[in-house]
This record gives sequence, structure tokens and C-alpha cells, in this order.
Amino acid sequence: MQVNVEEVLLNVNKQQFQLDLIDWFLREQRDLPWRHDKDPYKIWVSEIMLQQTRVDTVIPYFNNFISKFPTAEALAEADEEKVLKAWEGLGYYSRARNLQSAVKEVVSQYGGKVPNEVKELSKLKGIGPYTQGAILSIAYGIPEPAVDGNVMRVLSRILYITEDIALPKTRKLFEKIVKELISKEKPSEFNQGLMELGAIVCTPKSPSCLLCPVQDHCLAFREGVQDELPIKTKKKTTKEVLINALLLQNPEHKILIHKRPNKGLLANLWELPNHEMKANFLNQDEQLQQFIKKQYQINVEIDHHFMNLKHEFSHLTWRIAVYRGVTTTNTTNHTDLQFVTLDEISEFPFPVPYQKILDEIKKDLL
Ligand code: SF4
Repeated sequence: MQVNVEEVLLNVNKQQFQLDLIDWFLREQRDLPWRHDKDPYKIWVSEIMLQQTRVDTVIPYFNNFISKFPTAEALAEADEEKVLKAWEGLGYYSRARNLQSAVKEVVSQYGGKVPNEVKELSKLKGIGPYTQGAILSIAYGIPEPAVDGNVMRVLSRILYITEDIALPKTRKLFEKIVKELISKEKPSEFNQGLMELGAIVCTPKSPSCLLCPVQDHCLAFREGVQDELPIKTKKKTTKEVLINALLLQNPEHKILIHKRPNKGLLANLWELPNHEMKANFLNQDEQLQQFIKKQYQINVEIDHHFMNLKHEFSHLTWRIAVYRGVTTTNTTNHTDLQFVTLDEISEFPFPVPYQKILDEIKKDLL
């Protein structure tokens, strides 16, 4: 059934709702580093980092990132490997790459000033409607909606909307609703108020309704159905990939690492040499030995199985079996391979699963 925005908002006292939300936000907002000024570049960085990552986790990454790349110009000029290193651990590395590529465009096209128009912002890589709304409202005070999963949860409850928030059309519906509901005088505080409410009061499980500043406006609370909203269909099960990886040391005790291709998942990050396991008659360690020989012309003697690790991405699960081996080779001609010491390894950006494996390797080898 088509939801009519006017009907949804018919009985909402917009002005009082804005007042209650904004007053509460101004009183109770958390002290977060990206709230210290209204620099659109910093707000942009924080919003990209905050996508699917908790605030507590983001704070140290944000501070470190901004100390290394304090301006759009600094980020535009930075070496990609240094940017990925500063992003290491946050995951979703394509976001860091898109951010840097868009920042380069801001520097070359707009003299380093982040645009304040939807038309220009929306053309930048990695800036979707949410980030666009966050930058425009928070940095420039323009009443644009910034709707993410948190905001949809909060508004599903307040307005008792039962549309499936996993569907793109539902996000569009909420954007229309926020366009009507947003304070034209204080759009920054309004949008941040909704985000803050979702983060600390109207949480996914057990919302703190008794402490809620907009309880009087909340239809779900009135009906006692806050725990049943929002409606969200479950994702399909993810694909599972079995990987054999090799912890290979040469006579100088250096470890062989491999740079991933410059396109696709985790592009340009480093890892242990590995391959996807094939279901044939060879043992896993023999498969690995033959793969390294064929792919990199390196003779390997596999010693033993070192560890297993499971890592879940949003769309994919990796099950990595790590084997330990030795080689008599000290060099390689392949540009995507390097032998490095344990100390040198920390200079390279690795995705989270390989960081975990490296932690185990360090414990074992140190
Ligand atoms: Fe969320 Fe409860 Fe507040 Fe409604 S009253 S907005 S369900 S915390």
C-alpha cells in the first residue's frame, strides 16, 4: 500500500516535535571530535567512517586521520598506501579510496571547498543521499534530509510506519517525510538530534522510552509496539569462500606478503599469499605448494598447519586456513610480492582478517 506523507504527518505537532528534539540534543549531545567545528571536510570524513561502524570505534581513527590529513588538500596529495594504512581496521576500504578520489576532485574542481549544492555533492564518488544530507545540514545549515538506518528506525517508531526499511523505496519515503518535518531554522541540530536519539535512546533493542525526549509524539510507544518496529526483512545468506594462505619464511626469516589487485574487494591492500581452495584430490597443503610454484615460481616446503580464521564481510564469508612453510629463495621478481621483516610488516595496510592473522604470527615469532 502506498504511504501518503501528508497523512502520516497529519497529526504530528511539527513545531513541538522539533523543539523537544532540538532542545534535548543541545543539552545532551555527546562531545565528539567532529562536532568541534563545522568544517565540511571533517564532517564528510566522520560520516564516511561512521557508516556501519560504532562511534566509539571511529573516534581514535578520526583523530588519527585528521592529524595526518587535516585538510582536503592534504588528503588529495597523500600517498594512497598511507591513506589505507590510516584506515586499516575500519574495513570497507573502498570508502577510503572513494573519499580520497572525491577529495581530489574537490581540490581540482572547487579549489578545496566542499560544495554546498546537492547537484555538485551528489556527483562526488562515495557520497550518497545520506552523506550529502549530513554535510549540507551540519556544515552549511541547509534543510536537507540525512536518512540512514538509525533515522529510519526512530521515525518508524515515532510515526508508526510499517514499511520494510530494507527496501530502497522506503528510504525515499523517509527522505520525503524528513523534508517536511525538518526544522528550517536549525536543520543541523534537527538531523543530529534524530541521529543522536537513535544512537543513545531509541536503540535497536530495548529503547529507553521512559527517558525519551519525544515520547509524547511517539505512536509506537503509545501503542506499546516499539519493540516490533522497524520492519526489516532479513538478508540472504552470504557466500562462503575457503582460502588457503601461506606464512612463508625465507632463510633471512623474512615473510612473503602479497599486494591485492588494484580493483575489486580490498583492492591494493596486502595479505599473505593465498588461493581459493579447489575441491580436487590434492591435500590442502599440496594445493598451496603447487599454487605458489605455478603462480610465483617459488619452491616451498610446507611445514605445518598454523591456524584457521573465519571473517564475515557483509556479502561474503572467508574461511582461511593458514599454513606455515619455508623457502630457500630470498628474492622475487613479482612486483606484487615482497619479503619483509616483522618490523617492516607494520608499514603495510592489511585488511582486518590478515591483521588478526599477523597478530598471531607476531605472538608466535617474537
Ligand atoms: Fe523510540 Fe521509545 Fe522514544 Fe518512541 S518513545 S522514539 S520508541 S525511545
